[in-house]
Amino acid sequence: MAFKFKGVDFIGFDALLNDDERMARDTSRQFIEDNLIPIIEECNREGRFPRELVPQMGQLGFFGANLHGYGCAGMSNVEYGLVMQEFERGDSGVRSFVSVQSALVMYPIYTFGSDEQKNYWLPMMASGEKLGCFGLTEPDFGSNPGGMRTRAVKSGDEYILNGEKMWITSGSIADVAVIWAKVDDEDGKVRGFLVETDRPGFSAYDVHGKWSLRASVTSGLSLQDVRIPATNLLPGTGGLKSPLMCLNQARYGISWGAIGAAMSCYDTALQYSLIRKQFRDEPIASHQLIQEKLTWMISEISKAQLLSLQVGRLKDDGKVGHEHISLAKRNNVWMALECARMARDILGGNGITDDYPVMRHMMNLESVKTYEGTHDIHALIIGQSVTGIPAY
Ligand SMILES: Cc1cc2nc3c(=O)[nH]c(=O)nc-3n(C[C@H](O)[C@H](O)[C@H](O)COP(=O)(O)OP(=O)(O)OC[C@H]3O[C@@H](n4cnc5c(N)ncnc54)[C@H](O)[C@@H]3O)c2cc1C
Repeated sequence: MAFKFKGVDFIGFDALLNDDERMARDTSRQFIEDNLIPIIEECNREGRFPRELVPQMGQLGFFGANLHGYGCAGMSNVEYGLVMQEFERGDSGVRSFVSVQSALVMYPIYTFGSDEQKNYWLPMMASGEKLGCFGLTEPDFGSNPGGMRTRAVKSGDEYILNGEKMWITSGSIADVAVIWAKVDDEDGKVRGFLVETDRPGFSAYDVHGKWSLRASVTSGLSLQDVRIPATNLLPGTGGLKSPLMCLNQARYGISWGAIGAAMSCYDTALQYSLIRKQFRDEPIASHQLIQEKLTWMISEISKAQLLSLQVGRLKDDGKVGHEHISLAKRNNVWMALECARMARDILGGNGITDDYPVMRHMMNLESVKTYEGTHDIHALIIGQSVTGIPAY
């Protein structure tokens, strides 16, 4: 019953994009339309990640899309953002999978890895032959990852890792985990390690009973005396700023992704309101209160597009600050969640079923609001930026 997406561009936003950017957006839009939209409601119902789409995602260059070399597409940050927008218009869970593979696994290998690590892992990850996960959060340390208990101890030419990670996207389907741990011999400095998931002592168990991101795998990880070669240390990592650099990459993509989810909700609500009739045989779109909701949505979507585009342009110019990315992530996820709630309202009873994508987006966005820095933690990051006072 869901409507075919008609595209959302109220302010002539497309004119601000160049040909390459429009092509990246259109290619990913077509991929999502042809491959994900037809199966996503069934995946969501069954709590199933559509792994069958991974090879084609790799062929189309969607993994590590804004990295250069190693079989990656070498897109600009704006092109990459538009790809994330289209993925999340399909589903936040599937976008999360691509974000983790790209921004949280390939990016740290690319940025902090040795030549050997880059040459080995990146081409296989770009093609989707190998999958990765990012283990920062722990059961007792989410917003404050600096408190982490996971430890790495050097023993000859090996490291021995012990600890628990929680809420790890793709944890049980990953071939390699980027594990963040405090190194005992280095005064507890946080460093990143590549841990192949078939190493003895490594295990992953899935989180069940999720009402959100059901088409994405979420896992807990356990590391019990996991021995890895010392060469598995990501040599460029040093301190908590290293994982935070990765999170910045992912948060940037999320700011665009949320626009996609909002577009899906707005477009569905608009099309529905034009055919659903109540009172005097008139479409509900003729009622002022419905129009006010649609106006709120298209206003906020248009503002979010401009915000993410400016942040993307700053990123492409090497001028973006983490506080700009926090602003875009916080604002856009909030506005997408509000759009989803309004769209659900406009659809009335039909809004609670999976005949339409709206309630799935709404539930997904609750996770997106929490992960990669909660809405309130981003308020504190922006607050620190404007006042100079940390309030954590
Ligand atoms: C579906 C899903 C997938 C995820 N994927 C990954 C992943 O792949 N890798 C990974 O490492 N992590 C992942 N996460 C973890 C995610 O990043 C954390 O859930 C998030 O950082 C919040 O941590 P927490 O859940 O422990 O909440 P908490 O940190 O306990 O926060 C709970 C509440 O307290 C508030 N709060 C905390 N501190 C303050 C403060 N100083 N001032 C005011 N309010 C505060 C928060 O804003 C929040 O509202 C994922 C989470 C989810 C839900």
